[in-house]
Amino acid sequence: MSKPANKRKHIPAGKVRSYWQEHISEAIALGFNGRVIENIEDDYDELRLCWCCGSQGYQESAHIIPHSLGGQSTPSNFFLLCHECHVRSPDFAIAKPFIDYINEYAVSCTDLIVEVVTYGKRKLEALSFEDEKKMYALAEVFESRLMEACTEAFKMAGYHAASQSRSTKMAAFRYAIDKVIDEFDPSSSAEDIECQLEEDDKSAAISRAPSNSLPAR
Ligand SMILES: [Zn+2]
Repeated sequence: MSKPANKRKHIPAGKVRSYWQEHISEAIALGFNGRVIENIEDDYDELRLCWCCGSQGYQESAHIIPHSLGGQSTPSNFFLLCHECHVRSPDFAIAKPFIDYINEYAVSCTDLIVEVVTYGKRKLEALSFEDEKKMYALAEVFESRLMEACTEAFKMAGYHAASQSRSTKMAAFRYAIDKVIDEFDPSSSAEDIECQLEEDDKSAAISRAPSNSLPAR
């Protein structure tokens, strides 16, 4: 009697996602590390995370064991990756090399946020020379201007096969942080910064106000 044919079948990303989200304990038992598990748990249709590098965008259904090497066309033999991580992933007849590869390069979304915050904090500390008062004043200005700078930075960022890589995102965040920090004169005092902050508030209030309510000059 011959073995039943292992037919090659496309498995949609949604099926792969729901399979692994319902079988988290299986993913843990296979040896996927905490960052990978976090990406699987955090992933949903609108967010579409790469389960390896944590980048957001188009997901490809990647074989854990390739079809050509006997891998089955079932959701349990697939993983959701961005194009870059998919292309780099190993093709091997057992699952371990794939699991090792994912674990080695896994970065969670949370890691990215922590890295951005740490980077910004370090730059602020360098600028304030441990003057606590100045540090707080700077942090306030920093927060109010960062969103604007991020919008500008992400206009400069591109996509790679419909995915935005982690390094691209990090480049955009660093650009925005550098821009906000570089606008400040390091010799300015906490009082100078507070003055600057008040001016910012005033100009924001003017730009928010409907044009017909502006006082006549
Ligand atoms: Zn990736």
